[in-house]
Amino acid sequence: MGKAKQFIGCDKSFDDAKIVLFGAPYDATSTYRKGSRLAPAAIRVESDGIETYSPYLDRDLGEISVHDAGDLKFTSPDPAPVVYGVEAQTTKILGAGKFPIMLGGEHLVTLGAFRAVHKKHQDVCIIHFDAHTDLRDDWDGQKLNHSTVIRRCFDILGGAHNRIFQFGIRSGERTEFGFAESHTHLCKNNFATLPEAIKQIGNRPVYFTIDLDVLDPSEFGGTGTPEAGGVTFLELLDATQAVFKSLNVVGCDINELSPPLDTNGASTALACKFLREVLLLIK
Ligand code: MN
Ligand code: MN
Repeated sequence: MGKAKQFIGCDKSFDDAKIVLFGAPYDATSTYRKGSRLAPAAIRVESDGIETYSPYLDRDLGEISVHDAGDLKFTSPDPAPVVYGVEAQTTKILGAGKFPIMLGGEHLVTLGAFRAVHKKHQDVCIIHFDAHTDLRDDWDGQKLNHSTVIRRCFDILGGAHNRIFQFGIRSGERTEFGFAESHTHLCKNNFATLPEAIKQIGNRPVYFTIDLDVLDPSEFGGTGTPEAGGVTFLELLDATQAVFKSLNVVGCDINELSPPLDTNGASTALACKFLREVLLLIK
C-alpha cells in the first residue's frame, strides 16, 4: 500500500495527460455537518469498485488521458490560504494547457479554481448545480464560507450580469433569492431552463461547479446539508451531458460528498460513478 492511491484509470503522467484531477480536502467553513475533507481520498479508494467503461457514453477511461495529481496539502483551517492554494494549482494546470477537475471538499474551494479560470478567460460564465443558492454575502461575518462561494464568484465578475446560471436550487435566505432575481439566472428544483441558459451562454467559456447535494437525499444522503426535493442521478447525468456537449467547459469541480455521513457507502459509490462520467465527457 506504499503508492498513493489514484482514481481508477487516471494513471497518466502530468505531461502526458490532457486532464488533471486533484483533491481539495477542506471542510473547515462547513456550516452544519463536516466530513467533506475526506471525500477525495474516499472516492479514490472506492473507485476500485466501479467499471472504467460507461454504458451511458460507450466510452472507457482507458481511451482518455488523465493525471491524478493527488490532494493539495492544507496546513491551516484558515480559508484564505486554502483558496490561494487551489488557485495556484488550477493556474498551473491551465498554464500547461490542460483541463482542471477538482474534487472537494466543501464548496468554498470552487472560489480558488474560479479565480484562476477567470484570469485566463475574462468572459467566463458559471454553471452551478446545487440545492443551495450559496449567494450569502457573509456567514456570521465570514466572507469566505461554503454558503457564500457563488456570491464571491459574482464579486470577481464585477457585477456583470448574465454570467451565473444556477440549477436545482431549493434552499437559501429570502434575500439570496432576491439577489438572484436581479443578478443570476436561477432555476428552482430542477434543470428545466437549462436549454435556455445554453442558448444565452453561446460560445463563451464555462466553469462548471457541481455541489452533489443537488441530488435528492434518497440517492445521495452522505452530505453535510441534505435538502429534500432534489434531482435524481439520471437527471443530473442528463443535465451534465447537455452542459459538456453544448458548451465550451474550461474547468469543473465536484464537491460536498461527506464520507462519514455516508452510512451505507452508496453516496461515495455514486460520486465515483459520476466522476467517471464527467471525465469521459470532457472534450
Ligand atoms: Mn454549495
Ligand atoms: Mn449545497
